[in-house]
Amino acid sequence: MAQDQLIEKIVSLAKRRGFVFPGSEIYGGIGGIYDLGPLGVELANNIKAVWWKNIVYSRDNVVGLDSSILMNSSVWHASGHVEGFVDPLIECKKCHKRFRKDVYERLYEAKKRLFKKASAGGGNPVLTGEEMEVLLCKDGVHRPQDFTGPRLFNLMFKTHIGPVEDESSETFLRPETAQGIFVNFGNVVDTMRVKLPFGIAQIGKGFRNEITIGNFLFRVREFEMMELEYFTRPAQAEKDFEYWQKERMDWWLSLGLKKENLRFREHKEDERAHYAARSVDVEYNWPFMEWGELEGIANRTDYDLKQHSKESGKDLSYFDEETKEKIIPYVIEPSAGVGRAMLALIIDAYHEDGNRVILKLKPELAPYKVAVFPLLANKPELVKLARSIYEDLKKKFPTVWDDRGNIGKRYYAQDEIGTPFCITVDFQSLEDQTVTIRDRDSMKQNRIKIKDRVTSLKKLLS
Ligand code: ATP
Repeated sequence: MAQDQLIEKIVSLAKRRGFVFPGSEIYGGIGGIYDLGPLGVELANNIKAVWWKNIVYSRDNVVGLDSSILMNSSVWHASGHVEGFVDPLIECKKCHKRFRKDVYERLYEAKKRLFKKASAGGGNPVLTGEEMEVLLCKDGVHRPQDFTGPRLFNLMFKTHIGPVEDESSETFLRPETAQGIFVNFGNVVDTMRVKLPFGIAQIGKGFRNEITIGNFLFRVREFEMMELEYFTRPAQAEKDFEYWQKERMDWWLSLGLKKENLRFREHKEDERAHYAARSVDVEYNWPFMEWGELEGIANRTDYDLKQHSKESGKDLSYFDEETKEKIIPYVIEPSAGVGRAMLALIIDAYHEDGNRVILKLKPELAPYKVAVFPLLANKPELVKLARSIYEDLKKKFPTVWDDRGNIGKRYYAQDEIGTPFCITVDFQSLEDQTVTIRDRDSMKQNRIKIKDRVTSLKKLLS
């Protein structure tokens, strides 16, 4: 299947089956904003729960936090975001569309050969949606000379606190959750008796007024991030960086992403964010752009804590009991987007078998763990027994009921949303108190005793 066809199918499945809806759709939508539907919120919650379990619950030295989205604007001045959280923006002098310089260059370079061929009479180049948006002008193709020189554009959304809209009330929607962690560093050290090295983890919304949006959930303007700030002694930072690189790659693999679709990419010096001494991305091989960031791992050094100490006048140093010295720790930050995780997981899980679509999500990520059906909806004795099994299972697992259409269609409908198991109550069930349990991936059906339903499912789900 062609790669652009694959992404079209995924966008359509996401809408049709209630994973992702365009934001404010009935008013024509809003650029770069999506809503999670009933199944999307389950998938996102499962991803976040697995992350939290891995990062916080399975470690002795990581604690959680949930800081606010709105912060004192001094935070964003001190952190360098007001000055430095910028992208170079270029504008076409003819059609006045604006793009991120690096996005234009990436797409232009990739398509240059095709354009050369096309202008020499070699037919029309096939462009993806993002390429069409960026490369095509109203009367031809954007060439580098069509653009103004780059201007720096700050990606933070401005807002005001309180009724008066002047400079003193101005602040920003956070573009990363990390600053909430840095400003609470002292509070966590004082209350939790943490010892270096230790981490503070947070999941929350971030907002970026991206210049060029697109590729579905890949680049949006409002998204959730899963961030860990891992504070460590400066001399240990490089080693911890390597440790987290490996941890994070192992985590993505444990979710079921394909090894061949993941790689690391080290940032060049001129690419790094204003606070980073080293950055390595975990990249995924996206069908619409080939390799692109899934998660960023950065060595933010002591930059943020030092800046906040200086600007707030509060001492954010840490007294190291081991060396009896006050130090400002370094911080290693793995930061991943929930939306990009969802998209990569759906892409890798998507399978077609004839006209059957199967989302081979790992059971722990699947929105529903089990579906329960009566074989026939018009046989009250089957419905009654199936209903009692359903009512019981839904107290223990996310469970869905379906009695519409024929049984084959119901199986297919569950395959498409990734439900790993389907339980069917048939006529034999009435006689011997067994039901069939069908496996999504093998399509095999086994009979289990109704009284063993919970233990059997638990075993299968693990
Ligand atoms: P990019 O280079 O793709 O713009 P970034 O380097 O700005 O990404 P980070 O600041 O490292 O991204 O953000 C951490 C994570 O948040 C990213 O790895 C990605 O998963 C997610 N993310 C960042 N920007 C967006 C966005 N506009 N839409 C969706 N997810 C995003």
